[in-house]
Amino acid sequence: MAAVIRNPPVQSKALHSPPLDEVASVLSGGLKGNFAEVDVRVVPCPDLTKEPFTLACKGLGGSPRLVEVGGVPYLVPLVQRDRLYDLKDVGSWAEVEPAFVIGAGAGPWPYAGVNCEMMVNMEVAAGRVSNHTRIARVDPGDGSCVQEVLPDSETRCALLANLFCAQGTPGQVLQVICKKRTGADDFVSSIRKTLQSFYKDKAVGLGGTFLLKEGKAKQHVMPDFSTVPLNSDADVENWLRFFNMSAPLIAVGTLVSADPGLDLRVQHFHSFSHHGKGGHYHIDTEPDAAHYLGYFAVAEAVCRVDKPQVTHLIGRD
Ligand SMILES: [Zn+2]
Repeated sequence: MAAVIRNPPVQSKALHSPPLDEVASVLSGGLKGNFAEVDVRVVPCPDLTKEPFTLACKGLGGSPRLVEVGGVPYLVPLVQRDRLYDLKDVGSWAEVEPAFVIGAGAGPWPYAGVNCEMMVNMEVAAGRVSNHTRIARVDPGDGSCVQEVLPDSETRCALLANLFCAQGTPGQVLQVICKKRTGADDFVSSIRKTLQSFYKDKAVGLGGTFLLKEGKAKQHVMPDFSTVPLNSDADVENWLRFFNMSAPLIAVGTLVSADPGLDLRVQHFHSFSHHGKGGHYHIDTEPDAAHYLGYFAVAEAVCRVDKPQVTHLIGRD
């Protein structure tokens, strides 16, 4: 059995964390360039453990952090199977206790038997895990997507992850509602680019969840590791399996408006469902029907864990 990396190097940097009201007003203006209907406001976080979100904790409050683990360079051009982490450790890396951890990563191949997508959704309190994390893989027989919930005992993640970590307490959050996509950008890109154009080189990080209520989304699921090197974005695209998945889809992940020199993946959301499908979110595919409801917190800091020494920009979309 492959061993997890117990004490990976961790670098932390403060992020620019403007008041929620300011971010809401910036997004209210900018998102109208991409969606016909936009409503952004600051609200008390609804209970995210309830339908439709079904997350492990109620809120996004309490020392909100972005945690980026590993990176695509451990997957591409060829997999580095020794890059295996235990997400029970996220709270200690980020100095958050208890730790509510949600986001997008590569699933534990030693458990699944193959490479897979991971929709992280867990709480770790005093070492006890409440795991609602799902993985999605490609059925080698018929090429379909197969999603399953991980047991509390399986908290490993491979290669890379973009996580939001907080104590999971209630509190004020950003509520972002967008309907009917009129522009070319997906929901996450339009938020990120709006923040980037306002905040310039000040890095603002958001983490949280969004629901695609109506329509469908283009999502990929990684098949098993490539045995030939993937040397370009085109190679990665040809290797991935793409699906058109139906709403409702519940996405979890992070975005950051600028990279403060930590070789970050600037946006990464995976979504799961209660109808057996899940994967890496790219974009809604029925723009007229697109209806998003998101809840986000502004992260105070970013923790970079086991940053690859040799890096590249392939496969970050
Ligand atoms: Zn992904």
